[in-house]
Amino acid sequence: FQQLSAVDPEIAGVVLGELERLRGGLQLIASENLTSPAVLAALGSTLTNKYAEGYPGRRYYGGCAEVDRAEEIGIARAKELFGAEHANLQPHSGASANLAAYAALVQPGDTVLAMDLPHGGHLTHGSRVNFSGKWFHAVGYTVRPDTELIDYDEVRDLARAHRPKMIICGATAYPRLIDFARFREIADEVDAYLMVDAAHFIGLVAGRAVPSPVPYADVVCFTTHKVLRGPRGGMILCRESLAPRIDKAVFPFTQGGPLMHAVAAKAVALREAAQPEFRAYASQVVSNAQALAAGLAAEGMRPVSGGTDTHLALIDLREAGVTGAEAEARCDAAAVTLNKNAIPYDPQPPMVASGIRVGTPSVTTQGMREGEMRQVAALIARAVRTDPSGPGGADELTRIAAEVAELVAAFPAYPRG
Ligand code: PLP
Repeated sequence: FQQLSAVDPEIAGVVLGELERLRGGLQLIASENLTSPAVLAALGSTLTNKYAEGYPGRRYYGGCAEVDRAEEIGIARAKELFGAEHANLQPHSGASANLAAYAALVQPGDTVLAMDLPHGGHLTHGSRVNFSGKWFHAVGYTVRPDTELIDYDEVRDLARAHRPKMIICGATAYPRLIDFARFREIADEVDAYLMVDAAHFIGLVAGRAVPSPVPYADVVCFTTHKVLRGPRGGMILCRESLAPRIDKAVFPFTQGGPLMHAVAAKAVALREAAQPEFRAYASQVVSNAQALAAGLAAEGMRPVSGGTDTHLALIDLREAGVTGAEAEARCDAAAVTLNKNAIPYDPQPPMVASGIRVGTPSVTTQGMREGEMRQVAALIARAVRTDPSGPGGADELTRIAAEVAELVAAFPAYPRG
């Protein structure tokens, strides 16, 4: 850091500013986490210099012996941790991993069946502004209006009607477990591939806190930077029979040279995720999310589907008379970072939204437990109800920010020294 400060004080200031932001507030974005110093060290290593197009032992460049070792170790760890036949650690991101899975399994113009974006699906699951909706015929399934759970009968009916080549399950804002066996059954009935986008919950799978999709899916894609707590990036697991197609779809079809510093950092994160402490962390992530959802429910803020089985809760704010956008801004002013989120059948447009999404990976990494989650719920509820333009509103948000700072000081992100 001293070298960075000497060469580029402006960017050093940004790095320091971001560290202070992490230390001074509550990080409740469900897709974020705080990576370990070991992961950061691998990311900031000289491996960033190396061109290594290809795969271990089959590169298009010389001098790859060391990076080959990193990738081989990472692949072996991924296969062991997830019980997978094959692993590809090269996707630059979750979206790149998904693009490669499409490239490997389907052709442009084919039909894919995936969760609708407003019901929790990801952009890469068929949104019209994304390659997935532009190049493929995407059909969306929803959650039931009464239970707010995936409607498996609807998934089966849509699959029978549209005969998709690929079915995708996995989401960005679905708080409940997904029945992978049911999806497998439906995919088999219509002879479709089953792709599981496990970006959000793969860290819980690694920590044995939720069931694994690996035995059911043809391909499992995910990001490495969410609950899994690795570097920003993507990964793909698949059966051995699909390995050549997946590998070719990542390189050379959709990517060039892999980011070997990131591949090495993924290997470090996989090693960390195989330790017993990671299991304790993963189950605490879920207990914390359940405590946070219950705390918010007690404040009159309804968790969609009644609660959560995972690391995130989706909160319907309509009873509180506040939009998701207003809540996000008010919480921001109170040093609580979270995001507005559409709820199922949301009457508001996505940039306004009727809900917020809260997640517990970062606060759990910091060591918080259920007791702190109850305090966090009370702080969020106060912030959400405080109109900054009303009398005393701005002062109240400043007071909440001070209480947040006091709470997080006992659980520092990246402790000083
Ligand atoms: N898939 C799901 C389910 C996600 O939630 C996300 C990101 O949040 C992605 C894919 C894309 O990951 P990335 O942002 O690394 O491209």
